[in-house]
Amino acid sequence: SDTCVHAPTVRVRPLTCTETRRGDQRVVHSLGDGTVHVSAARHDVTFGFSAVFDAGASQEAVFEGSGMRQLVELAIDGFSCTVFAFGQTGSGKTYTLMGPLAQSETRPAAPGLLGLMQRSFACLLEQSQSCGSGLALSVSYLEIYNEQVRDLLSPGPPCALPLRWSKTRGFYVENQLNVDFESLEAIADLLLQGSQRRRTSAHTLNRHSSRSHALLTIHVRSRASITPTTRVPQPGACPSKQGTLCFVDLAGSERVKETGSSGELSVEANNINRSLLALGHCISLLAKPQGKRMHIPYRDSKLTRLLARSLGGSGITLMVACISPSSRCLSETLSTLHYASRARRVTTRP
Ligand code: ADP
Ligand code: MG
Repeated sequence: SDTCVHAPTVRVRPLTCTETRRGDQRVVHSLGDGTVHVSAARHDVTFGFSAVFDAGASQEAVFEGSGMRQLVELAIDGFSCTVFAFGQTGSGKTYTLMGPLAQSETRPAAPGLLGLMQRSFACLLEQSQSCGSGLALSVSYLEIYNEQVRDLLSPGPPCALPLRWSKTRGFYVENQLNVDFESLEAIADLLLQGSQRRRTSAHTLNRHSSRSHALLTIHVRSRASITPTTRVPQPGACPSKQGTLCFVDLAGSERVKETGSSGELSVEANNINRSLLALGHCISLLAKPQGKRMHIPYRDSKLTRLLARSLGGSGITLMVACISPSSRCLSETLSTLHYASRARRVTTRP
């Protein structure tokens, strides 16, 4: 079929030590049939999704069960594929995408804990080695912080890059670095460098990364077979295809408390709320039947501009909603699940 559902997947993380120690109740349960059950004093709701991963699910199970491997194969086939993790701060978005971040190059994370990103990289490079002419791979890594786009791969102090639009390219970031890579070590290294840049560019480490959206995009070009002597495509060879695989670690979706001040915090909060709202708005408009569809307001935020191509009909999107099982997170958990349910109805024809 040429219709592709933006499949939402839910991952429930285990209770953390702190949560267990202070006696938080588990209010989220999964029955193993694609449903999530939220039951607390005044709530008893069941949601259905294409896949639900409970606290016991391994990183490998999430990779295999979410359809991530197929997404990698579609990117090799020339499609624009996007996976995005969303949910409140501390719900496991970064863990799901990257695993626990390595402390340094000499102390990498245990292989079993690697996230969707590293597993996808391995899958891409395996495929590249197994097909004769290989794949041409390159990566860009950006973050959107306070509605400014910054390059996480370029050395030196972070500076804002302009986001532009052209008829041929659609929305694109001017002067963004796009680095070629050929090995798993090289891409793992770029991921680590970029993530460290994201983490250390703020005074309070955790706050910055939970207040910014990070987008890592792999460009996959399959080379048409070329004979070394003539340098022309062999008769019958496939034309070259160009796909992308984009990983989006969204800013924490929790409502930031109104501080009443006009300080830095409330500017940040407004920007996050605005871009997540814009994303939700685009998704719910896309969920309407084709005939009733209005103009999709991608221009409302930098995030939706950068995601326009993958959301809007030429791409395939995998959403991973991350939630905490704790009673203390109940209202955020419900809002994440509602947000994910809305995205369930979006279909596109890549
Ligand atoms: P977020 O990126 O959504 O803010 P993190 O990925 O940083 O959240 O996760 C918060 C904490 O919970 C981290 O200490 C992380 O290691 C832990 N954690 C998250 N998901 C899991 C999981 N599935 N299994 C074990 N620990 C997890
Ligand atoms: Mg995070």
